[in-house]
Amino acid sequence: MATERTFSILKPDATKRNITGAVNAVIEKAGLRIVGQRRIQMSKAQAEKFYEVHSARPFFGELVEFMTSGPVVVQVLEGDNAIAKYREVMGATNPAQAAEGTIRKTFSESVGENTVHGSDSAENAKLEIAQFFQDSDIAA
Ligand code: ADP
Ligand code: MG
Repeated sequence: MATERTFSILKPDATKRNITGAVNAVIEKAGLRIVGQRRIQMSKAQAEKFYEVHSARPFFGELVEFMTSGPVVVQVLEGDNAIAKYREVMGATNPAQAAEGTIRKTFSESVGENTVHGSDSAENAKLEIAQFFQDSDIAA
């Protein structure tokens, strides 16, 4: 299996409830390594750009509002098959449908405020990492 990097966000519901360490423990236990991590306040423009693909969806305004409602932790995760692995560890978008033991099943309260983001493809992982990290910050 190939070593990959994926982009993760611990969303405002995670920082607000002070559970970023608990979520990171699940990430690390799954064999993913946190090779980049920064706590930021996302601007409206950053959130709109990040979720541009969802701009026509009815929940877009709510999503941008939520993502800018408090600090987030942006991360780069590394490991074997990291992109698919992290999607598995996160669980389904709607926590009500997420499998036992996943981050969203364990911690999330709604489909909107669902604690974590993870890239869904190699192409998006690359673009998303580049939106928030300089290459020099996440060099091997
Ligand atoms: P995922 O984060 O699992 O890749 P999507 O890409 O479909 O899910 O959606 C992006 C984000 O938009 C979700 O993580 C969630 O925060 C929000 N979202 C998705 N669907 C809804 C919905 N029906 N109502 C409110 N927010 C939603
Ligand atoms: Mg998505």
